[in-house]
Amino acid sequence: MKLVIATNNQGKVREIKEMLEPIGYEPVSLKDAGIEIEVVEDGETFAENAHKKAKAVYDICRCPVVADDSGLEVDFLGGAPGIYSARYAGEDATDEQRIQKILDELDGVDKSMRTARFVCSLYCIIDDDTEYSVRGTLEGFIGTEPLGHNGFGYDPIFMVDEDTSVAMLSSEEKNRISHRASAIKQLTAILAKKEF
Ligand code: IMP
Repeated sequence: MKLVIATNNQGKVREIKEMLEPIGYEPVSLKDAGIEIEVVEDGETFAENAHKKAKAVYDICRCPVVADDSGLEVDFLGGAPGIYSARYAGEDATDEQRIQKILDELDGVDKSMRTARFVCSLYCIIDDDTEYSVRGTLEGFIGTEPLGHNGFGYDPIFMVDEDTSVAMLSSEEKNRISHRASAIKQLTAILAKKEF
């Protein structure tokens, strides 16, 4: 069954493809489905934004759709940057500037209070009566300097243990533990049990 992935991010399409193809789905990107759409992410939660994107695409194709929204929550910052993760230091800021903003905000804060998580919400609409929402997380803490060169976004300051940032993991290692992988696994488990 064809499943449109409501993103133009090829990395996300590939991750979702790798997990859903073995159970009989054929994930296709928005581009491959011939859908051009810009959805304003103005929800108050990751789940609301994922739902909004999935619904907007479903309304066009009337076919099974999965959309995602993800970001970083830092406990000391009350959950910020949260849904604003992509534009935390302003619309045109770089990953380095977003990372520096968080390091500045946590300057002098003890390690025990630097806990954080990556969150990924996936929203899947199969038909008018069948919708699923799942949430995956990766728990860790914010380091005191950027470490490692792999991954993207906040990976260099997101520590999974004392000496290891996510940017020091290979993509295979990250894909085993990531918030996105966890959400995709949950959705895969739900869809694998369904007879459509
Ligand atoms: P979106 O889900 O593409 O809107 O991503 C939101 C933002 O959250 C990204 O631009 C990154 O800044 C951050 N983010 C989401 N997932 C990750 C991750 O796996 N590593 C690092 N940053 C991430």
